[in-house]
Amino acid sequence: MQVDLDELIAGIRAAMDYAVPEEKRAEAEDLLYIYQDDRLALVLLHEFYHFLPNAGEDWVRDIQQLNCRQGIFLLALVTAQHRYVYLASDEGVEFHGELGDGYIATELLDFFAYENVQDFIERSRGDEVTNYEPLRLNVNICPVCRAATGEYHALGCVVELCPWCGGQLVHCSCRHDQLGVDSIDSEAQLVKFEVLLEERGRIPYAPEQRPSFLQEDWELE
Ligand SMILES: [Zn+2]
Ligand SMILES: [Zn+2]
Repeated sequence: MQVDLDELIAGIRAAMDYAVPEEKRAEAEDLLYIYQDDRLALVLLHEFYHFLPNAGEDWVRDIQQLNCRQGIFLLALVTAQHRYVYLASDEGVEFHGELGDGYIATELLDFFAYENVQDFIERSRGDEVTNYEPLRLNVNICPVCRAATGEYHALGCVVELCPWCGGQLVHCSCRHDQLGVDSIDSEAQLVKFEVLLEERGRIPYAPEQRPSFLQEDWELE
């Protein structure tokens, strides 16, 4: 069930009444304003403000992006003394301890290709860390399936381009032509098409594929 954005914001504000000192409220509100239509950030802030703050200085100054792969973000919530690590995706958010306490799970290190905990901590303090950008504005993330630039779209993503005709893969007729059928009715056909697609070479996400740059006859649904 998806909670509506206004409800998330109201929930965050209610928690801020307790967590954020009066004189810092405007600053905390500025951050909320930046992410007001970004579900991922709002779910994250909501989670933080309901479970973590234990002292008056523990309110969120920034949301940083430590890493991102296949629509899964490794983010840090920055407070005065702490950086709290979260895994966040459309599926929800998961708390992974404080940066530096070495609590991060091995599967996560592997998934994001960190060599070890030390590598994770060092890189999380280095140049590759940026402020998390609201997804609507982040040209390096597919607006539909969240693939990053250079990654393959989730199969079925409407933004993926067809490697045979260059059109919109979910709408052109190439899938039928390649399989020699009029329609795809079975899982087996879909699997076979995926194999053909990979042999041909899928076209990874690139910023110029964003719908605002596409021809007008491209459909989003
Ligand atoms: Zn996509
Ligand atoms: Zn095609």
